[in-house]
Amino acid sequence: MLSGRLALVTGGGRGIGREVCKLFAREGARVAVADLDQDATRETLKEMGGEDNHFGVEADVASLDSIKNTSSEVFKKFGEHPSIVVNSAGITRDGYLLKMSEPNFDQVINVNLKGTFNVNQTFAAAMKSAKINPGSIINVASISGQVGNAGQTNYSASKAGVIGFTRSAAKELGKFGIRVNCIAPGFIQTPMTDTIPDHIKQMLLFQIPMGDFGKPEDIAEVAVFLASDRSRYMTGSILSVNGGLY
Ligand code: NAP
Repeated sequence: MLSGRLALVTGGGRGIGREVCKLFAREGARVAVADLDQDATRETLKEMGGEDNHFGVEADVASLDSIKNTSSEVFKKFGEHPSIVVNSAGITRDGYLLKMSEPNFDQVINVNLKGTFNVNQTFAAAMKSAKINPGSIINVASISGQVGNAGQTNYSASKAGVIGFTRSAAKELGKFGIRVNCIAPGFIQTPMTDTIPDHIKQMLLFQIPMGDFGKPEDIAEVAVFLASDRSRYMTGSILSVNGGLY
């Protein structure tokens, strides 16, 4: 579904981002795997079957300079800009509001929300100037940004921000043929959720109508749909992938 397309995936070194990279590659895309952690990036490339068509590149989504550099490196490597961008990089620094430190609040906002600005602005500008049409940008929010979650005021605020950002960017960029959509995952089994204690996981499981946690592959399938022309008339949409939890 994606043959001939060049995609960039932030947070591609682990979890959901890694599965998106692998499925995009299977669907025929060339993929730039962008992450802070180059060991993780190399592992993703290995699981994708090597570097012949793909490329590992350093990216700190919290820094606009770093993302501009990532964009230049990708252009140097492929001689073109990506027509698909998935922004999966994200962090949690959980804690109850009354105990949350200011650095933990700021870090989460800087990576999850400011990172969304840095990635969307840089790659949308590249798509527009290269007259790439169609272009597809996919942001990753969370059910926490839709319904809230105790212990996650910082994370929920950042992800609610990603939803509002996506809706507004879609309104600005539609006229250039650039679609901007968002996936809001529920509980997905990745390194991010591995550290949640088992008794909390059991409590969560009872609340999920489908009776199971999601897999990163479940999010990757939706990302392929949003990246491809099968969703050509969709922009500004928030797709919930949460087993019925919300
Ligand atoms: P993950 O397994 O922790 O993977 C996130 C990846 O992003 C890691 O490779 C991480 O690198 C990278 N990253 C962190 N900060 C970065 C930065 N500043 N610049 C570039 N890369 C950075 O998490 P995940 O579960 O796959 O989550 C992916 C996205 O889905 C996130 O936006 C998350 O908020 C969202 N989400 C996840 C769930 C879930 O249940 N898993 C639910 C809802 C939403 P390091 O490992 O080196 O930090």
